[in-house]
Amino acid sequence: MTTDNGASAAEKDVVRYDTRGRTAVITLNRPRYRNAQNSAVTYALDAGFQRAVNDDDIAVIVLAGEGEHFCAGHDIGTPGRDIGTSFDRKAVIWWDHVNKEGADNRYAREMEVYLGMCRRWRELPKPTIAMVQGACIAGGLMLAWVCDLIVASDDAFFADPVVRMGIPGVEYFAHPWMLGPRFAKEMLFTGERFSATRAYEVGMVSRVVPRAELAATTFELADKIALMPRFGLALAKRAVNQCEDQMGMRNGMDSVFGLHHVAHAHNAETGADSLAGMDAHAMKKASG
Ligand code: ZN
Repeated sequence: MTTDNGASAAEKDVVRYDTRGRTAVITLNRPRYRNAQNSAVTYALDAGFQRAVNDDDIAVIVLAGEGEHFCAGHDIGTPGRDIGTSFDRKAVIWWDHVNKEGADNRYAREMEVYLGMCRRWRELPKPTIAMVQGACIAGGLMLAWVCDLIVASDDAFFADPVVRMGIPGVEYFAHPWMLGPRFAKEMLFTGERFSATRAYEVGMVSRVVPRAELAATTFELADKIALMPRFGLALAKRAVNQCEDQMGMRNGMDSVFGLHHVAHAHNAETGADSLAGMDAHAMKKASG
């Protein structure tokens, strides 16, 4: 792995890997930046998931966030932002984005680190549980959504505010399947946060518990799942995922990825950059 500046080189262990019995715990570990997901994090997550899948002693994978927040989204403004960096790509989906221009660059990068990685993680053969507290915003939603189950604390909140950038939702466009079409439109149109309770009501999260009980509830669920036969779990997961894809999710995502990149290209063509000149600070200000 290479890093493109001192700040990201100085950050150690942006993702932690621990085990707890037969559960692997993969933890986003940039609490200072509300676990904003840069490419270093993405590739470290990918390595963590691979390790958990390849370890026969691991039955269940928990994805967690260190600190007050699960994940504030893709890194659009920390000192460790590393969009110009090449990483060792394990599963070739497209060519490396580095040294490419315009849409060629953006499409290659987002196909690899956003859509491609998220799809692979969704299809890991072992059950995954997202353990979510605090902010779970935009790219953070993608990480929670690729997990099979989501356990949220009652202080968790969710949003995909990228319509403020003129972009029709994050790259892994699971919104209509995760939230139902009606609420998907509302949360996109307003960009507003919604609560863990609302997420539970629309079927997006599996459990909502007090913050103090988040870890215990998640690990209890993981331990229960770990008692089931491994191959049966893998087949059950695949069965549901295949049906979800028969319900149009995979094809829908492919078509919306094109709309997403029309938006990036439009922004770049008419304004300052592909994000309509908005960074993390501007997005926060716009959301009040
Ligand atoms: Zn994008």
